[in-house]
This record gives sequence, C-alpha cells and structure tokens, in this order.
Amino acid sequence: MTVFGIVVAAGSGERFGRPKAAAELAGRPLWRWAADALSSGGCDDVVVVGEVPGGIPGGARRRDSVAAGLAVTPDGATHVLVHDAARPLASTELVARVIERLAVGDVDAVVPGLAVRDTLKHVSGEVVTRTIDRSHLVIAQTPQGFRTAALLRGHDFDDDDATDDAALVERSGGSVVIVDGDDHNLKITYPGDLAVMEAFLL
Ligand code: C5P
Repeated sequence: MTVFGIVVAAGSGERFGRPKAAAELAGRPLWRWAADALSSGGCDDVVVVGEVPGGIPGGARRRDSVAAGLAVTPDGATHVLVHDAARPLASTELVARVIERLAVGDVDAVVPGLAVRDTLKHVSGEVVTRTIDRSHLVIAQTPQGFRTAALLRGHDFDDDDATDDAALVERSGGSVVIVDGDDHNLKITYPGDLAVMEAFLL
C-alpha cells in the first residue's frame, strides 16, 4: 500500500475574510499543520494545493483543487488521502485510523464521522416542518481516504459540485464507510474558530 496525501488549501476564504490556509495557529500556518498530520499518520508523500510555499495551483471549486492534486499523484500510489487545510488539528491517530481501515481492502472510501448530538429541525423560513431522525446521520470530516482508482472514477463520473470527495465516490457507485472522527478536528470557517482551536492546544 502506498498512500499519497493531498491537502487542499486554495479558495478565497469568503466566510473567513481572507484565504484561510496561510492563517496561523500557534505560529504555524494551517496548511502545514494539515500536511504534517498526514505525514505523521502514515502518508508516504504529500502535496499541498494552494498558494503556499511549495504548493501547486488550485481550482475554482474544492473538487477542482482536489483534481489538481490527483493530477500530480504518483502512478504507484494505491491510495489517496484528501484533507482540508482548514482542519489543522487532525490527529496522527485519526490519519492512521483512516489508513488502517483502507488497508482492509474491502471498500473504496473511508470517511471519519461524528455522531450528531443536537436535535435537527427541517425548516421553511422560521417554520419548523419536521424533526429529522439523527440516528442515521453523521458529521463528515477529513482526511477522507480512497482507493486511488475509485477517487479518479468519482471525479470522471460527473462535473457536479460536492462539498466532499466521498460524495463523488458515492455518486459513481463506490462503497464508502465511516470510522470514528475526532472531536477536536473542527473545520475553521470563521475567524473566531481560530481562537477555539488555540484553546484546544492549551
Ligand atoms: O470552503 P470550505 O470551507 O469547504 O473549504 C474546505 C477546504 O477546501 C479548505 O481547506 C479550502 O482551502 C479548500 N478549498 C480549495 N479550493 C477551493 C475551495 C476550497 O482548496 N476552490
């Protein structure tokens, strides 16, 4: 098994107010936290997609940035992990857990997921139309792991947008399973999220 890591660090960071990946947590840029997590968890090599030192150019949508990473994925890489630079606190154990599940060899994709703790309401404006059964829902995180061939097939299958890569594999008929995610592996979306992460590091 040879595992290639793709850290997506491009995009305008509209909700964050500036490109997120160059923002720093405890003096280290987010993209470096993310790349280091992939390396220490077992990726043999890592590329960062985005305007960062040593990075390659990204695309307009997240899936286009992942495609840029796939284009430089070495031929010998049997598996690929895709990780958001916006999740700097993915642990070594989490990365290793995703790779371990892939190594079993029976699925196309592995997604870290967290159980939903809150009650979910479907709404129309301010009106609640129903309450969603949360027992079959998880919150999907990254890094998401793939058989390289399955992720390539997912990208070739259609050009519709998706908020994660597993969705592309699902749409193309691939098998996707969940492993335990990590409570601290939050995604930085708004500037205030950085302060929450700093607190996790204390
Ligand atoms: O925008 P969102 O929060 O979903 O971004 C998730 C991750 O995807 C971030 O790490 C961001 O840098 C990356 N991204 C990208 N190229 C884009 C949009 C987002 O690499 N065009």
